Amino acid sequence: MAKNPNKKAPSPQQKPVSRAMDKGPACLGSTRTCVGCRESCEREKLFRVGLGTDGQVCLAVGANGRGCWVHPKRTCIENAAKRRSFERGLKLTPGPTPVNSSALISQMREFLVRRIATLISIGLREKSLVCESDFVVNIAALSVPLVVVASDATEVASSAKVKQQDGLRVEPQAVRLWGSRADLGHFLGRSEENALLVLSAQMAAKLVSSIDCFVGLEG
Ligand SMILES: [Zn+2]
Repeated sequence: MAKNPNKKAPSPQQKPVSRAMDKGPACLGSTRTCVGCRESCEREKLFRVGLGTDGQVCLAVGANGRGCWVHPKRTCIENAAKRRSFERGLKLTPGPTPVNSSALISQMREFLVRRIATLISIGLREKSLVCESDFVVNIAALSVPLVVVASDATEVASSAKVKQQDGLRVEPQAVRLWGSRADLGHFLGRSEENALLVLSAQMAAKLVSSIDCFVGLEG
């Protein structure tokens, strides 16, 4: 767990996103080695990094050309930058200054915010998630694999583990604090929202993965 999971998420960017975005950073099936910690793991748990058109090392999810892989974790990215592992992975001659790890982390955070926004919009469309303020009695009869609570919605966060509403209980399998009420509201086209109840296990797994990556990038 990062030091400050309550840290405010950046405002979501309404940029167009690729269809691949809700599927994760890469397709399933093969392994790659993180240039930061040298651990091998499934491609979908790593982010691909490449060389941008401006000559800077940058996030290169889904891009063509030479790439290397890194965990979306601050320690891995900073270690790779310090040891010049990105340059080695990309077969570049290291310049006088290391790769800007802060810029790379910002790009990953922006990517993850866009992915989370995409997942929420798909979830609303598919009715695999519902806003806490729209919570109705019959939803309590369904299983709730995940509740995403805005970090500044403390009254919801404190009761989210076992939420009592209208005499019925919702016991989510997971709770994640993420963004602010205004951030969640922005995703939903309203001024603010306390929490999202995720009703599909598949959607919950994708959101947990993205939110945990986002938290892992915090300093
Ligand atoms: Zn790593």
